[in-house]
Amino acid sequence: MSNNFRFLPDLSTDQLEAIQLDGLKWTVKHAYNGSPAYRDKLDQSGVEPGDIRELSHIESLPFTTVEDLRLGYPFPLVSVSQEQIVRIHASSGTTGKRKILAYTQNDIDTWKNMMARCFELAGLTRHDRVQIAVGYGLWTAGVGFQLGCEHFGAMAVPIGPGNLDFQLQFLTDLQPTCLCSTASMALLLSEQVNKMGLRDKIKLKKLIFGAEPHTPKMRKQIESTLSLEHSFDIPGMTEVYGPGTGMECLEHSGMHYWADIFILEIIDPVTLKPVPPGATGEMVITTLSKEGVPLIRYRTRDLSRTIDGSCPCGLELPRHDRILGRSDDMIIFRGVNIYPGQIAGILEEFSDVSSEYQILLKREGGLDFMKIIVERRDIVSSENDQQLAVLISDRIRKKVMVRTQLEIIDPGKLPRSMGKSKRVVDERNPEHQA
Ligand code: ADP
Ligand code: ZN
Repeated sequence: MSNNFRFLPDLSTDQLEAIQLDGLKWTVKHAYNGSPAYRDKLDQSGVEPGDIRELSHIESLPFTTVEDLRLGYPFPLVSVSQEQIVRIHASSGTTGKRKILAYTQNDIDTWKNMMARCFELAGLTRHDRVQIAVGYGLWTAGVGFQLGCEHFGAMAVPIGPGNLDFQLQFLTDLQPTCLCSTASMALLLSEQVNKMGLRDKIKLKKLIFGAEPHTPKMRKQIESTLSLEHSFDIPGMTEVYGPGTGMECLEHSGMHYWADIFILEIIDPVTLKPVPPGATGEMVITTLSKEGVPLIRYRTRDLSRTIDGSCPCGLELPRHDRILGRSDDMIIFRGVNIYPGQIAGILEEFSDVSSEYQILLKREGGLDFMKIIVERRDIVSSENDQQLAVLISDRIRKKVMVRTQLEIIDPGKLPRSMGKSKRVVDERNPEHQA
């Protein structure tokens, strides 16, 4: 079967597996020969590159972690000589651990191709204009979107994040059809477009948002305020080139990922064994052709699950679900492990509150307290706030087994972000603080 894509590959399962096996063998050999740190790790686990003869042998390889990246600062796990490095990027350091990653020209070209695939899967054409409202510089986001957009052949408007007035001016003057931003930034922009009555003056049809989790509710809110045709979730991380490790397609049922560029395993973070197909676990990534900093079973700490079956869009590449959160986000509250995403999931059930929420953790008299602040939707009256607060906190108690104090506030009152939103404010003690 052939697909009609320019950048998206058309591979049978056999072809894909052959690419994965070749890439896996190459990667292990390349890392072993190029990086003393990788060589030590592999030696310690008793694996030699020649031992990898089939795909299932991946499970004999040791994991690589954020700690390995930190230990080798500033050039961790680099497996090529220095003159082959053409660029570095650093992660945004959301969890306080900034990582620096080095790229060869081939790495940049692979990434450019990955990002072009994303625009293709979102159904863009060369006539599209793409406002790129994410961070430039050390961060991978801006430059990644731009590389891919230009390679794809659409028009890049590299505005960067922030500055709402400027964003709105460009949306009206240049008539971009697609916006790339975080979901938080998109929400803020959509509220502003609404407030200023600009919807008829702009031509936005599609929105691509990544870098942070968002709920279906948040997305629906943005889509309807901006009357969008489509919005897409895009996954990515600095360690695996940057944004664009996969992309949601027009069917909106999970994200296709580039299985010819990396192998994705989903493991149980406690037993470190693969979870059953379709179960949620930690995403573990092994790159297949990455030169600068190859990844061998890199524990991303991001949680997701694979989606079985083929997709009606016709693309035969496998899919994973949206990223539900990261294991670093886990809150330990009175002995219970909670992910902010669980709270967001419960708020989804209540149509009277918006998608925005904040979790406040405090310690008083030796006890931990959790307060959850949510916004009432603008069409809802404040009369029932108290009743609603009780309903929501009861639901949280039933589902997550913790007692919370719930506060409902006016729409638009929680802090808005032009980057990644901070959902948890932990004031308990310094080591709990992000
Ligand atoms: P960090 O935030 O760890 O400093 P990056 O700036 O490279 O590093 O961001 C990558 C991280 O952002 C991912 O590991 C993931 O937790 C989060 N992320 C990226 N894209 C998405 C997405 N589409 N949905 C949810 N989370 C995402
Ligand atoms: Zn699809």
